[in-house]
Amino acid sequence: MTGWVKIAGLGPGDEALITPEVSGALDEATDIVGYIPYVARIAERPGLTLHASDNRVEIDRSQHALQMAADGKRVVVVSSGDPGVFAMAAAVFEALENGPVEWRNIPVDVLPGITAMLAASARAGAPLGHDFCAINLSDNLKPWSLIEKRLRLAAQADFSMAFYNPRSKSRPEGFVKTLEILREECEPERLILFARAVSRADEAIRISTLDEATADMADMQTVVLVGSSRTRMIERSGVPIVYTPRFTPDEDQG
Ligand code: SAH
Repeated sequence: MTGWVKIAGLGPGDEALITPEVSGALDEATDIVGYIPYVARIAERPGLTLHASDNRVEIDRSQHALQMAADGKRVVVVSSGDPGVFAMAAAVFEALENGPVEWRNIPVDVLPGITAMLAASARAGAPLGHDFCAINLSDNLKPWSLIEKRLRLAAQADFSMAFYNPRSKSRPEGFVKTLEILREECEPERLILFARAVSRADEAIRISTLDEATADMADMQTVVLVGSSRTRMIERSGVPIVYTPRFTPDEDQG
């Protein structure tokens, strides 16, 4: 039996947002590897072994997946959203690069998924309709000073921004500082969206402005979208629409 690894994105939560390609890979798999809550989303069946592991062991998990594939297993490594966005794909390639040379013969595919910022953006309208960037606000894998620098420069360049991992219990002060930096760089009316548990039963979308936003509006289930200076809101009955026009006039360069 020829083994392989497929690094798959399970989307933001709703089954309907899992691609047919990912469903097909899950059907063919002998082994599923991933962080506990993501593996919990996979239905058990005969012939399928689930290997759930704790967070922060991405490289161990990747080595395990590659070794099982080298032994002939069909392994799907699961991430939420897209596996290339602050998730397992880069970890598997890091393990591959540093692993035994035989591992380079293992077929490895990345199967994309719908990442949180795109699911959130679709719910709100089109806040990422013009140029945007994504920043992981966790300083587990990089220094906080780098996050601050990127935030400030992105705000000065007038990108819309998506923040992943905005605020964890172990580092509550980071998002407070994030809001302070944004307030230094942007006007108080700047639109900011807190999209929590998008596409899950407990989904909550909150539209705010920079002067009204407070750090406790975000947690680890939330992706935060900050508009550019041109992002606008259309009031209507029910939920308003937030969008960023595709056209930026010549004289308005942020
Ligand atoms: N690979 C994932 C991101 C992993 S980082 C993706 O592409 O979406 C984990 C962060 O993603 C969370 O802290 C949160 O900021 C965001 N996130 C993941 N799923 C989400 C959802 N359903 N709703 C809102 N944010 C989500």
